[in-house]
Amino acid sequence: MIRKLLRRVFSYRVASFSASAEPARIPVSQHGIHREQVSHGAAKVCATLQGRGFQAYVVGGAIRDLLIGHLPKDHDVATDATPEEVRALFRRSRIIGRRFKIVHVINGLETIEVSTFRASQAAETDKHGRVLADNSYGSQAEDAIRRDFTVNALYYDPITETIIDYHHGVADLQQKTLRVIGEPRARYREDPVRMLRAVRLAAKLGLIIDPAARAPIRDMAILLENVPTARLFDETLKLLMSGNAVRCIGQLREEGLHHGLLPLLDIVLDQTVSERFVWLTLESTDTRVRADKPVSAGFLFAALLWPEVSRIWERRQTAGEPPYQSFFDAMDEVLAVQAQRLAITRRVAGDIKELWGLQPRFEKRAGRAPFRLIEHPRFRAGWDFLHLRAQAGGVPEELSAWWHRFAHAGHNQREELLRAVQTNNDKAPTRKRRRSRRKPAETATLKPVP
Ligand code: ATP
Ligand code: MG
Repeated sequence: MIRKLLRRVFSYRVASFSASAEPARIPVSQHGIHREQVSHGAAKVCATLQGRGFQAYVVGGAIRDLLIGHLPKDHDVATDATPEEVRALFRRSRIIGRRFKIVHVINGLETIEVSTFRASQAAETDKHGRVLADNSYGSQAEDAIRRDFTVNALYYDPITETIIDYHHGVADLQQKTLRVIGEPRARYREDPVRMLRAVRLAAKLGLIIDPAARAPIRDMAILLENVPTARLFDETLKLLMSGNAVRCIGQLREEGLHHGLLPLLDIVLDQTVSERFVWLTLESTDTRVRADKPVSAGFLFAALLWPEVSRIWERRQTAGEPPYQSFFDAMDEVLAVQAQRLAITRRVAGDIKELWGLQPRFEKRAGRAPFRLIEHPRFRAGWDFLHLRAQAGGVPEELSAWWHRFAHAGHNQREELLRAVQTNNDKAPTRKRRRSRRKPAETATLKPVP
């Protein structure tokens, strides 16, 4: 009896994950996605390829997002044409990647990513089974098996408006389940980033990670150490800028994915002292992303790492380093630790340091310095950063409000604002100055965060 049941379950699994299984073909009357809902560029690419006798479908995130009523961020197309064949058909296109070749087709302002159906076995893996290169091509069914989650393996034909669904992705989406295609452990071994994707997509789409996909994550988290830093950087950025950073980070922590992998997240999540500042940063990032306002990677990383800079800066001072020097050394030390795991690009690192470097300058409210500061090209970002610190209680709210007024005031009002600060300082009870007199003015009042 049990054997019979096992056989039935087993044969179901084989059927649902084998490349020969017949997919469900879901008509528009059932799924409701009309061709006008996919981007004009993606539909055009499919039409051109199909016109030349190739298969071509909009695939992946765009279809998944449309099915749950989200606006797709971008469109991917999957085809049986090789990258070279695709390249030859579109004048404004180029092949990118060597180990995983895909074609970028440009249509107006849109870039459509066109990939060729992958074979069911990757061409090259490392000793942990991680896929290193894959330019061997296969059928659509094989391509479907290679995708990560059932909800991402939906192929939409804009000409017939049919969805081809090999792995019950539509049903999973309806049931709000994120399910890995195939055996989760094997799939995470092939590409550990899938664990991060599971968390990000579940948070973004409001899905529950299927227990079988969730269970191995804690044990396998360590595999993320083998992932190249540039890829981790991209993935972390996607996660933090998804508009659901608060939910994503919360879930990463629950899954045990935050520890020992990304030093940035380690720092962010393990320090209760800095917690308020960090959550405020993430909340404000989510709010901006959802309002379609720009969010810079530099600002975000600068904010997330600020508590750490502050901690190290204090430690160095206690050890006797001069304040000014220790502030800059703390910045370098924090960035160096991050660089071991996250390939923060040189440009982003420059932005981060600039923002940090501006912070002590907000403490100087005398002479010509404030006038120079408001002329700084990054003044606005620096002030946003200061405002966040003030909200978290790291600097007085009065300071951030004062700078806001100063920046928006006319010349005479500015002089008045400066005089008011001076008067307040004169009224303030005299502090013991022995230690602070030795500090350069710029860092003298910089407090540890939040
Ligand atoms: P979003 O665009 O919202 O970040 P997405 O699922 O579209 O999500 P992309 O990185 O654009 O993510 O990938 C497009 C498609 O490629 C996915 O839907 C999935 O089918 C496939 N894919 C992406 N990354 C992987 C992976 N690591 N393993 C297997 N398939 C993947
Ligand atoms: Mg996508």
